This record gives sequence, C-alpha cells and structure tokens, in this order.
Amino acid sequence: MEEKLKIESRLAQIGSQEDPATGAVNFPIYNATAFRHPRLGQSTGFDYIRTKSPTRSVLEEAAAELESGDAGFACSSGMAALQTIFALFGQGDHLVVSLDLYGGTYRLLERILSKFGITASYVDTNDLDALESARRPNTKAVFIETPTNPLMMITDIGAVCTWAKRHELLTIVDNTLLTPFFQRPLELGADIIIHSATKYLGGHNDVLAGLIITKGAELSAEMAILHNSIGAVLSPTDSYQLMRGMKTLALRMERHERNALALAHYLKGHPAVAEVFHPGLPEHPGHEIQNRQSSGNTGIFSFKVKDARYVEPLLRHIRLIAFAESLGGVESLMTYPAVQTHADIPAEIRDAVGVDDRLLRFSVGIEHENDLIADLGNALEAARRELEEGDGDRG
Ligand SMILES: *Cc1c(COP(=O)(O)O)cnc(C)c1O
Repeated sequence: MEEKLKIESRLAQIGSQEDPATGAVNFPIYNATAFRHPRLGQSTGFDYIRTKSPTRSVLEEAAAELESGDAGFACSSGMAALQTIFALFGQGDHLVVSLDLYGGTYRLLERILSKFGITASYVDTNDLDALESARRPNTKAVFIETPTNPLMMITDIGAVCTWAKRHELLTIVDNTLLTPFFQRPLELGADIIIHSATKYLGGHNDVLAGLIITKGAELSAEMAILHNSIGAVLSPTDSYQLMRGMKTLALRMERHERNALALAHYLKGHPAVAEVFHPGLPEHPGHEIQNRQSSGNTGIFSFKVKDARYVEPLLRHIRLIAFAESLGGVESLMTYPAVQTHADIPAEIRDAVGVDDRLLRFSVGIEHENDLIADLGNALEAARRELEEGDGDRG
C-alpha cells in the first residue's frame, strides 16, 4: 500500500495533481456558474455553481482530507459556516457551548438562532460536571473552542467527545486557532469541525472564508443539503486564494508558534505585565492537555498589563505590530478584546472568564522575533513614561 504523505507535502500539493487536461501545477479558477449536461439525465458531476463547483471542490476535498473527515464545505465566511452548521438544529433544541467563546458565535446564537427557538448554555467545557449539569433532555450538541480566544483555555477534546457520545450529542469543534497542522479533533471523536479560514488557513489577511468538515455519511449528506440550501458558499476566486494560502500553512504555523512563545516569555518577564495566557508555558493550567492532544501551539496569546492605563498609549506606540482586529495572518496584530472582538458578550460573562480592561490579545506574525520584541518593548516603555509624567502633573 502506498504510504500517506506527510501533512507538509499534502499541504504544498493541494490541487497540484487535479487538472489532467492541462497539467497546471496549481488548480485553475473556474468561474463558470453553469455546466453543460452531455445529454438528458447525464451530468459531468457539476450542474450549478452553488451546489458544486470545480475550484471549490478541490479545496473542499483537501480540507476534508487534512482534518481526517469525510466531506468538506467551503463557505463565504466563518460565520456563514457556523450558521450552516447551526441549521442542523431547530425549534426547542438546546446546545452546550464553551463559555469563553468567539464573540461572533455568541452573537449568532443569542441574536439570531434564539429567534428560531434554539437555546444555548455557556459553561467551562473542560469541567465535565459543569457539562453534565448544563445538559437537558433537549440538548443536541456540544460546541467547543480549544484553545479559546482570547484567554487560551484548553478543553480535553477526547473527554468531551466520550461524554457527548454517551448522551448521543454531536460534538462540534471550532479548530480555527490550531488548524489541522497542529490539531485534528475528528481523530479524537468529534463530528464536525468549523474553521474561520480567514485566519491561519488563508494566512495573509486577504481572504474571508469558512470551512466545515464532517465525519460520517449521514451527517455529511445532511450538511451538503444545508450548504446548498442556505447558499453562503465560497466563490471560485476566493477558493483559489485560500488554497494558495494553505500551501504554506506548515511553514507559517511553525514560525507563528516559535514567535509567539518567544514573545510570551519576553512579556512574562516584563515589569509592566501582570499575567500571560499561553498554553505553551508550563504554568498554564491547560499545558498538559494541550501537549497531549495537539502537536504544537497557535500563534496567538493574550496578556494583562498591570494597569489599564497602559493600554491606550501602548496601542498608540506600537509600530511594526498593527492595532487591528483579526488574527492568524503573517502580519502581527494586537487587539483589545473588551471593546472590540468581545464587545457583544455581556459584561457578566466577560468578567466571569476574565476578559477585562487590562487584557490585550496578540496575534504574532512571522516577522523576526527580535523586531517584535523591540517594538513591544519600546511601546511599553513609552507608555510607562507617559503614565509617570501624568502622575507627576497631578502630584
Ligand atoms: C474569526 C473567527 C470566527 C468567524 O469567522 P469569520 O471568517 O470572521 O466570519 C469564528 N471563530 C473563531 C475562533 C474566529 O477567530
């Protein structure tokens, strides 16, 4: 039997062997929206773009294969992928969801899906007792993010899947932060993976996309119906852009991981910093589980400054690092979750998980680590001077 290629090779070769007509080493963009039928009752496999289109199909097959799933579905954004997944549920259904959740997912559940009679309970999904007490007779699925964004809380995926199977619940995992290069939840028992491919998979802050990967024939067939019926599918051009990004995923993730760890160590030793949340640090409560279920660490982490008054001048003084929302691109970005990505999450939930006004999230890019350390060091020093001068004026 032919041995399966290593993931680095499979990533680099996405779409490379798929166009026998021309031998093109990267799969072309087919912009056609309609496909001729050879004759009545026959199809080339392609009929109408929303249902299936050639460039998107190559991406979807690659995504399914990388995540060890049975089918992949490319969507116009991560939110479109989430909406499509949640359409599996209806009136009266209940979900158990990670407490420290991506703000957009929370908003979708609370503002939109609630109108269709779908309810959710938010719990620490690494606490099996909390999961069990949140479970109701109408619970249909558990939805987890691990690590969470921004606090990097780790959930034991295998343990949750075992619990979920015992109660016939689906396990849905948002694998945006680690990507299949570092973590493959379907191999640990999950049923559905969702990605904001806008982040690491695309990797260059230049394409908006989402992916769904399913395990099992019945679930895959159901998802195909939802994907086609809802219609929030990815365009051929964006499908190509995303595959182009994914070819270098292995190289980028290795550098993101190395840089983020270097910056986490630097900040941990900085006098203006109170706390660093990075699962790669041995003192992180999820460190051991993370090492067991993933082969590496993502490039984002967060940290708390000692005084909230540091935040404004720090964000004003960073130069190389951009003050911008989003994550997972080659360029380093820093965000302020309490007022940006997590503004839609009620203050009680934010406080319960610790997303407060001293917390900053850092998506570490692939620049040289020394340049990033210098930029951050300069900005923290400038912030400290401003605070001191401010205190002096008042005193
Ligand atoms: C960005 C993000 C999403 C939403 O994806 P979009 O591509 O922005 O629609 C969902 N989950 C996580 C973890 C994200 O970071």
